[in-house]
Amino acid sequence: MQKWRRFVKIKVHDFEEQTKSEMDAKRDALKGNPIAATSYNFVGDILTCSQCSQTFIHKFGYCSHQRAHARADHPSLPANN
Ligand SMILES: [Zn+2]
Repeated sequence: MQKWRRFVKIKVHDFEEQTKSEMDAKRDALKGNPIAATSYNFVGDILTCSQCSQTFIHKFGYCSHQRAHARADHPSLPANN
């Protein structure tokens, strides 16, 4: 086997092993995160904020509103949490 071919084979193997280990670490980190739990407060059939009684049509708006309350209560939380 030529010298350059052996060199390329070894480097490609090293790259693949490094990439696999990085992907495994990333997957393990993601699996370690707790699943985001959201509880919805339905009053009758209407989604309603328990803190300020604002009503919502969509769950997304409700979740966003709850994050806004969490940011107001704990200003240290990141804005995109
Ligand atoms: Zn509210």
